[in-house]
Amino acid sequence: MESTSIQQGVTIGNKPEGYEGAGFFATSLDKVVGLARKNSIWPLPFATSCCGIEFMATMASHYDLARFGSERLSFSPRQADLLMVMGTIAKKMGPILRQVYEQMAEPRWVISVGACACSGGIFDTYSVLQGIDRIIPVDVYVPGCPPRPEQIIDGILKIQHLVETESLRRRDSPEYKAMLNKYGME
Ligand code: SF4
Repeated sequence: MESTSIQQGVTIGNKPEGYEGAGFFATSLDKVVGLARKNSIWPLPFATSCCGIEFMATMASHYDLARFGSERLSFSPRQADLLMVMGTIAKKMGPILRQVYEQMAEPRWVISVGACACSGGIFDTYSVLQGIDRIIPVDVYVPGCPPRPEQIIDGILKIQHLVETESLRRRDSPEYKAMLNKYGME
């Protein structure tokens, strides 16, 4: 009986917009790729301090990030498409964070989790980077000190929306290249 209730709790992802009839369903490649990417995001947790503990809670059984298709963490930038920066980033750590970002293949997304990663937080000092967007582009900011797991999940959902709706051509666009150039990247 229990397995039945578990099965009842499973929700099937919505199919993309398209045309359907007897025995066929047609949609565009963008939408199919977006659907697949959205539900198989591989995060790379770059956790340096207390916000990382909140992320551990987000991964654990109660909040269970696996429900969103992101249970497979990657500690190699080459097998990750979502960089999650959680915690205080010292200026000395900046070049390492940037190298990790540069080693990730496109398409890649970034979440800045917590006040420290977003803006330096309470550490308005000479040694702390006052926001990771000074060295790498950020897609979603999650506020809080620390943010609760619900907020981190909300950030993941916002990333999923970006991933699902992103044009396949965006990464080749002049606007995207110009944005990377602003950070001194190609
Ligand atoms: S935002 Fe707050 S909880 Fe998160 S790393 Fe900074 S001090 Fe710690």
